[in-house]
Amino acid sequence: MKCPFCGHGDTQVVETRMAEDGDFIRRRRQCASCEKRFTTYERPDVTFPAVVKKDGRRIEYERAKLLASFNLALRKRPVSTEQIDGAVERIEEKLLNLGVREIPSSRIGELVMRELKKLDKVAYVRFASVYRSFEDVDDFKSVVDEIRR
Ligand SMILES: [Zn+2]
Repeated sequence: MKCPFCGHGDTQVVETRMAEDGDFIRRRRQCASCEKRFTTYERPDVTFPAVVKKDGRRIEYERAKLLASFNLALRKRPVSTEQIDGAVERIEEKLLNLGVREIPSSRIGELVMRELKKLDKVAYVRFASVYRSFEDVDDFKSVVDEIRR
C-alpha cells in the first residue's frame, strides 16, 4: 500500500489488531521512506447484489424477506429453525459467490425453491406451482396470505 504522506510504494505493517467487535482488522503501517505511520482498516466485502424485480425496479437484498418466505412455505412442517437458517445461508453464499451486482428476483425464487425441495417435499409441492409464477418473495407472501385466508 502506498504511503499517504509521500506516495512511496513500500510500507510495512507494524501492528495488526482485531477490532473489539470483530467487524474489522486494524493495521498500523509504516512508510519505508518517510517513516510516518498510518492506519488501515480491513472489512469483509459482503455486499449482496441488488435484486431486480420484473418491472425493472432495484431493491436491496433483505435476509428478513427470504426468511419470511421460508417460514411461510414451511408453516407447520417438521423443519427446524436451524435447517431454515442453513438454507438461507446457502442462498446468501451463492448470492455472494456469483460476484454480480444485480440479480433478477426470479433467480432468487429458484434458489428458494431448490432449498425447499431439499427441506420438505410437502412444502415444496404445495408451493411450487404457485411459486413458479411469482416474481419475488413479496408476491410469494401475498399469494400465501391468500391461500391461508
Ligand atoms: Zn512516506
